[in-house]
Amino acid sequence: MATHEVTNQVPPRAGLDEFELNVPLTEAVLEYGAGWAVPDLHRVGRHVGTAEFQRDAQLANTRVPVLHTHDEYGNRIDEVEYDDAYHRVLSAAVGFGAHTAAWAHPGPGANTARAATFMLFAQIEPGHACPVSMTHAAVPAMQTTPEIAQKWLPRLLSREYNGTLRTGAAWGKTSALIGMAMTEKQGGSDVRAGTTLAVDAGDGSWRLTGHKWFCSAPMSDAFLVLAQTQAGLSCFLVPRVLGDGTRNVFLIQRLKDKLGNRSNASSEVEFDQTVGHLLGEEGRGVRTIIEMVARTRLDCVLGTAAGMRQSVAEAAWHVRHRRAFEARLIDQSAMAAVVADLALESEAATATAMRLARAHDEDATQQEVAFRRLATAVSKYWVCKRGPEHAYEALECLGGNGYTESFPLARRYREQPVMAIWEGSGNVIALDVLRAITREPDTAEAFDLEVSRAVGAHPVLDAHLTATRRMLRDASRADASAAASGARRLVEALALALQASLLVRSAPVAVSDAFIGARLGPDGGRLYGTLPAGTNTAAILARA
Ligand SMILES: Cc1cc2nc3c(=O)[nH]c(=O)nc-3n(C[C@H](O)[C@H](O)[C@H](O)COP(=O)(O)OP(=O)(O)OC[C@H]3O[C@@H](n4cnc5c(N)ncnc54)[C@H](O)[C@@H]3O)c2cc1C
Repeated sequence: MATHEVTNQVPPRAGLDEFELNVPLTEAVLEYGAGWAVPDLHRVGRHVGTAEFQRDAQLANTRVPVLHTHDEYGNRIDEVEYDDAYHRVLSAAVGFGAHTAAWAHPGPGANTARAATFMLFAQIEPGHACPVSMTHAAVPAMQTTPEIAQKWLPRLLSREYNGTLRTGAAWGKTSALIGMAMTEKQGGSDVRAGTTLAVDAGDGSWRLTGHKWFCSAPMSDAFLVLAQTQAGLSCFLVPRVLGDGTRNVFLIQRLKDKLGNRSNASSEVEFDQTVGHLLGEEGRGVRTIIEMVARTRLDCVLGTAAGMRQSVAEAAWHVRHRRAFEARLIDQSAMAAVVADLALESEAATATAMRLARAHDEDATQQEVAFRRLATAVSKYWVCKRGPEHAYEALECLGGNGYTESFPLARRYREQPVMAIWEGSGNVIALDVLRAITREPDTAEAFDLEVSRAVGAHPVLDAHLTATRRMLRDASRADASAAASGARRLVEALALALQASLLVRSAPVAVSDAFIGARLGPDGGRLYGTLPAGTNTAAILARA
């Protein structure tokens, strides 16, 4: 017999159009040239908003990938088995072009539309976004070598998903996903410390021997791998299945037991006379792979912004339905301030992500290219660093439920830190910003032009821009050690300048004023929910 009735629990948040509801994202899609993609984005929004998709996201993260090093007869197979739920998620993301749509149909707004698609999927299930992102980002490296591009690009651009390796007679997949393997035990940030060796086989291919300490999505069809040749560090394409349908040597040692990102397998792998094909120039491996790194850094910003959106959407939903002390939580000003503050952070991250995505379109001018070089690094540092704390505060809005695995924010909290570590951890990115402003001064000029478009809109922002310019000047004159120790402070100032400038130009005044007051003014607090007095929280929440 039931001892009680269930009351005051919130209804399931499902059956919604996640694009429609995400006002900052819908506005940015229009602002950054992708109005033509709106019908498709609604389709994506409805797809990821279904209860079934949410369930798949949960299953993909609880029925985690399993490594099979050998088959039942003792032959090495080095395959990872994923739950069907993960395959369904990845298949839908590929089907909607979250991986390579911007390359398949380039043009103004192509990267904006692809970014929005990617973010909608990553909002609900982040792990699959790893191979999706790497496949998108691998294209420029492939294009350095026409014979490889000719063979592989049509497969990358395909909207089909096939999660098997297909060996033997069945060989011949028409689609492909791509991974990358740079990090070794002795060095991840310092890729030049890599010891994997590549030897010319004399038949147009190379043989690689060595190891990689992190190699995510090991069931991808090929990997961009860095290895040493006599000419230095070089970039190779290593397929999992060779042209005759046999397996390449790809010895997966084990899967990482990770804090989060559980649906996505990350492996340790060894190469032993593994076949690889040189990409780009021998000895210029970093140069070949650098554009891939830049684009995956952008996707770290997109992925974190997507996570912030999930956090805000779940928190806002909960507080609109939950009552405590005889009133809805949303109607209690202490809670309204917390959720509004979380929404401000999410809006700023979304505006930044979409502005950067647009700067990656093929019509980018020299100035846009210079802007994105610096702004991507600045934003990768700041947005990704803001992710974990944001998820933590959002899950607390759900009270005890937020701390349980029945709701998605515990998973999100464990997910967010990876985007700060992967593709350049905090210090590495901050030092990269210093490198850009000292070695490529046009990047700082382009950045300054961008943020200066908001000059005169708000006195606090004007003062911040003046102070940031002074910091930039000082950093470019300081000795290396002093500049490095102040690098994080500088990047923070640059990031806030960019975000505030973007919000002034594109968001309602209630949003930009609150952001500037809370993040740059003297009245903002350190934790979320400490907005300056007089903030129009109702206007901010109406967009959340
Ligand atoms: C879930 C996950 C998946 C991954 N998948 C892949 C993958 O698919 N392929 C791949 O190649 N790699 C992958 N990585 C590896 C990742 O890119 C590296 O872990 C990362 O680049 C950092 O390298 P590291 O671990 O060797 O740390 P280190 O390079 O040793 O850095 C340790 C710390 O020192 C700091 N640091 C480094 N240099 C300096 C400096 N000069 N001054 C001050 N501080 C510094 C860093 O910021 C960091 O905080 C993955 C990692 C994770 C967690």
